[in-house]
Amino acid sequence: MPYKAPVRDYQFLLNDVLNIAQYSNLKGFQDASPDVVQAILEEGAKFTEEVVAPLNAPGDKEGCVLHADHSVTAPKGYKEAYLQMVEAGWPALGGDPEYGGQGLPHVVATAYSEMLTGASSAFAMYPGLTDGAVAALSVGGTDELKALYLPKLIAGEWSGTMNLTEPHCGTDLGLLRSKAVPDSDGTYKITGQKIWISAGEHDFTSNICHLVLARIEGAPAGVKGISLFLVPKFIPDANGNPGERNSLHCAGLEHKMGIHGNSTCVMIYEDAKGWLLGNAHEGLKIMFYMMNNARLGVGLQGLAIGHASHVAAVEFAKDRLQGRALTGPKSPGKPADSILVHPDVRRMLLESRALLEGGRGFLTWVALQADLAKHAEDEATREKANDFLSLLTPVVKAYLTEKGLKVTQDSMQVHGGSGFTEHFPASQYMRDIRITLIYEGTNGVQALDLVGRKLPSKGGRAVMAYFAEIDAYVADHEAGSAATFVKGLKDTKARLMDGTLWLMQNGMGNPDAAAAGSLDYLCLFGLTALAYSWAQQAAAAQAAIDAGSTDPFYADKLKVGRVFLERILPEAEAHLQKMKAGSEALFALEDDRF
Ligand SMILES: Cc1cc2nc3c(=O)[nH]c(=O)nc-3n(C[C@H](O)[C@H](O)[C@H](O)COP(=O)(O)OP(=O)(O)OC[C@H]3O[C@@H](n4cnc5c(N)ncnc54)[C@H](O)[C@@H]3O)c2cc1C
Repeated sequence: MPYKAPVRDYQFLLNDVLNIAQYSNLKGFQDASPDVVQAILEEGAKFTEEVVAPLNAPGDKEGCVLHADHSVTAPKGYKEAYLQMVEAGWPALGGDPEYGGQGLPHVVATAYSEMLTGASSAFAMYPGLTDGAVAALSVGGTDELKALYLPKLIAGEWSGTMNLTEPHCGTDLGLLRSKAVPDSDGTYKITGQKIWISAGEHDFTSNICHLVLARIEGAPAGVKGISLFLVPKFIPDANGNPGERNSLHCAGLEHKMGIHGNSTCVMIYEDAKGWLLGNAHEGLKIMFYMMNNARLGVGLQGLAIGHASHVAAVEFAKDRLQGRALTGPKSPGKPADSILVHPDVRRMLLESRALLEGGRGFLTWVALQADLAKHAEDEATREKANDFLSLLTPVVKAYLTEKGLKVTQDSMQVHGGSGFTEHFPASQYMRDIRITLIYEGTNGVQALDLVGRKLPSKGGRAVMAYFAEIDAYVADHEAGSAATFVKGLKDTKARLMDGTLWLMQNGMGNPDAAAAGSLDYLCLFGLTALAYSWAQQAAAAQAAIDAGSTDPFYADKLKVGRVFLERILPEAEAHLQKMKAGSEALFALEDDRF
């Protein structure tokens, strides 16, 4: 079943909705002329559809293999496709030009990332983790480390990993035991065991750069005593090439439910040479640059797998003949109508599409904030964009993966029994997407981050700015051509405001109550963010129609948007009511009665 990249949707979002041409005075955007963006979308689609997507199903079946010498081989074809990707310069798209990157806007690179991930999420994780390592190293590395490592990482010649988790230490990083002992040359000897390290070992880059959290001997207990180290598989020689082998290895591969093409490794460090990133005991601060990058990447993964599964479901539904339309046969010459005639099948397909197109609009808007936070000319705009990025990162991660799972589940349902067999891709998508709700901080933990850290941060500055942003949009567009969408946005934002006030009034006195409602609150936030994007998308589509465009894409947008308004947005009230129920019912049952 072929993968189809969402090229047209990205053309629309980048040009008609966000109008990225308006930022052509900003760094990075100068080079993102409409024809360059068009070429990236088209070539990105070609590469991901033709080279990467065909590896997805065989990679799932074959998985990765650990050899006696601790080396790991990825599924057949991965290495060749990876090298082809590096050769074509894809990993460097959004990289810093100072270190060999192409410096294109993050919002454009995001479009390519979705295509790559949709084509094969297991494959896309290899360059995805490297992106995160680049983010952390760019902030925490010395000039010397940056000069040595960044060009190779940005080009994709070397890859990166993130090492937080230990057998007894997952969400609670304060329990971390890996240790670091200062060496006489200013480096550290790292010892410990890390588990579930994605892309920890593989066969397609000449070096792998592990970013490892460890505790320097004598450091305080808890999260305050954690430092971050760069621990390369091969220690670079005087010319910057991979030299002596470092004392670390992959001791096992996890057998897991999905993403079989990505190596999930047990990593052993035995006095491995590591370089401190940032200050001692402040490693988490730097690691958060990698983690935030990864959280946005995982939200994107939820969307991308959801899209891929939806494409497969649409293809299946068009071909599958079962039953007759309730209003009389649609294809009387055939033994039965296609299942597309059934309202329940249409419900699943169209709710999926409304979530995907709204989610993509939201993701793209957030990606643009990352660009503005870096490159906007005035400090106030940079600060506001940075606030939005920080506030919305847990929403992107958790809401897009929750809804990605719903889409993937409905896509399987559309397939009927065929979806449960391995003859169709629905089952792989179902297995692959499930991890996105768990790793990079579970969705429950993302919701706590939103409620406990992001909302109160700086006296609530970010959330107030977000409300003001929406209020301003509503005021400007209430009487416009997409008024029903603006009303949907206004009503949902009012519920979000209500929920926020409830948290302010109840959260301090009863933290369990705030925590019990936090995922519902996050979903209410996600719905508001999608409503905002749908209002913008509907206005842009209507404007194109009013200007005389006969491209059916625009009329379709409004039809799909209507599904969002009528069938998705009403969930906002249920989320509000559930969060206001507090935690009493959850604690009424005694622990020993579970
Ligand atoms: C395939 C795969 C790849 C991974 N890749 C990496 C990687 O590359 N690098 C890496 O470092 N790690 C990686 N991980 C680890 C992953 O990030 C963790 O599994 C995840 O963060 C959750 O930690 P845990 O599994 O220990 O769950 P636990 O922390 O044991 O949580 C169990 C349950 O309790 C809940 N919970 C725990 N603490 C709290 C709390 N304070 N408040 C509310 N609820 C709580 C959780 O939400 C969850 O539902 C990977 C895991 C897998 C399965």
